[in-house]
Amino acid sequence: MIITQKDKELIRAASDLLRKLYHARRHRVAAAVRAGSGKIYAAVGINANLGRCDICAEAAAISKAVSEGEKIFESIAAVKYFPKRKRSALVAPCGVCREFISDFGPVKVIYSAAGSVRKEDVRRLLPNQYNKNGDA
Ligand SMILES: [Zn+2]
Repeated sequence: MIITQKDKELIRAASDLLRKLYHARRHRVAAAVRAGSGKIYAAVGINANLGRCDICAEAAAISKAVSEGEKIFESIAAVKYFPKRKRSALVAPCGVCREFISDFGPVKVIYSAAGSVRKEDVRRLLPNQYNKNGDA
């Protein structure tokens, strides 16, 4: 799919927030989600100080939007800062986030793979997804 100006806005929102709140241990990724209303919600991921109770940026951004009354999402993008490269880049959502995002329908995920920016329906990133009704 073609990367649009709206997609670039989403990437910029995530990048701007990460630039503002980046913390080497706590906030290495930021995500931005565009809701059906057109509004963009951005959030950072939260890495746990103890244990493994991290919250991914994608889940944080969607949670923020849902808490503001949003129910439908068009697209989502996440950006991670790589200190050794001294730059940030788009990242693909983890498996848990792919399932979480897909729970909101055909959301487009903007990510980077093999050196190119891609945009795909989240369901394409989650083949043979769990279905509570079985393989009916
Ligand atoms: Zn995740």
